[in-house]
Amino acid sequence: MLVVALDPPFGRNNDKRALNVALETSDFSAGYKVGLPLILEEGVFVVREIKESTGKPVIVDFKLADIGEVMLYTTRKLLEYGADAIIAHGFIGVNGALDALISESRRRGFHLILVTSMTHKDSERFIDKHFEELLRVAIDHEVHGVVVPATKPRLINIARRILGSKFKIYSPGIGVQGAEPGSAICAGADYEIVGRLITRSESPRKAAEYVSRTQRERWVECHGLQ
Ligand code: C5P
Repeated sequence: MLVVALDPPFGRNNDKRALNVALETSDFSAGYKVGLPLILEEGVFVVREIKESTGKPVIVDFKLADIGEVMLYTTRKLLEYGADAIIAHGFIGVNGALDALISESRRRGFHLILVTSMTHKDSERFIDKHFEELLRVAIDHEVHGVVVPATKPRLINIARRILGSKFKIYSPGIGVQGAEPGSAICAGADYEIVGRLITRSESPRKAAEYVSRTQRERWVECHGLQ
């Protein structure tokens, strides 16, 4: 239920590498999310290093939003470096853009995840106005899942209701951005993406253990034992 977002800097004095944080937290993490900050800091080889050392999948989050050919080239390169899943913006649309990634994900078997809302304030001004249409893009093209912020539990409820159980919901925004661990799981998310609460703590292992335990407790409270 926990995906650790490995955005630098790590630790108090940026004294750690992403791999150390990944290894410390791997008992509690279902996977890792890496973005441009980490790849610019440590190089793209870090993707395979994390994947092979932890045995966990790596989601590469460049929030792609470009013409199809450019996103396809970027995605193929990232797959060469070991990416298991790619995050792209739903708002860029399908014709001439996401269609290239949708067919490549079917051919190559990587997971495509679409951003349908963001945690920052102005997401409401633009992206959120099309939230349900973006969910429809995910459904119509049978992508793996969507990103819906933990800071907007109402949107997670709506997403779960519209998507049913076939699509995964990934929710960032736990900790520094304000949502409590377990709150997105309670609202219907499959995974909580947690960055700084874990990566900047004195002990990433203890922080990840705390998040994971809280998620399990909240799961039982909200959904029963099942
Ligand atoms: O450190 P923190 O837990 O706030 O990190 C959240 C992570 O989730 C960051 O990597 C950020 O890029 C990402 N994210 C987000 N809001 C979205 C999509 C992704 O905060 N809607």
